[in-house]
Amino acid sequence: MSILSLKDGSPARAAHEEQIPWPQKAPAACPISAVKARLRSVGLRPTRQRMALGWLLFAKGDRHVSAEMLYEEALRAREPLSLATVYNTLRQFSEAGLLRQVSVSGPKTFFDTNVSEHHHFYNEDDETVVDIPGSQIEVTGLPAAPDGMMIASVEVIVRLRRADGVETATKVAGARRT
Ligand SMILES: [Zn+2]
Repeated sequence: MSILSLKDGSPARAAHEEQIPWPQKAPAACPISAVKARLRSVGLRPTRQRMALGWLLFAKGDRHVSAEMLYEEALRAREPLSLATVYNTLRQFSEAGLLRQVSVSGPKTFFDTNVSEHHHFYNEDDETVVDIPGSQIEVTGLPAAPDGMMIASVEVIVRLRRADGVETATKVAGARRT
């Protein structure tokens, strides 16, 4: 099969890495075909790189990942992609509506596999993002949109910082499970 073909030349990799964890170890719950169908449904050709990253992103339930986190995961899964490729693919997935961007501070952006409107906790201590369950936040007193405009969405980021040790960390760990 061409997936392991090395005729374009990367002999160092071929010598001692016959196995690729993906896609052979796909759990039955999320077959490769589901990732492929998801890409095709938004008009993206299922290239090997998109499939590999799509698999890492969508096979584990709702996730919030940064490009750096996904890049590390791809390395661990023996998918040697450049960080630039990971960035580009995340951007393509976002533009296609497969991911939602969550900007938390400065240049730091997380990509959320849950594209429905919802709000987030951001833990400044360990730089993690978790969902706030929908019923726990209510936004009132919004300004009227300027003429000719409408409010498209409202996204709240509640920043967390460790208060005096364990209390906040425990709370966040609990939220992560939801
Ligand atoms: Zn989220």
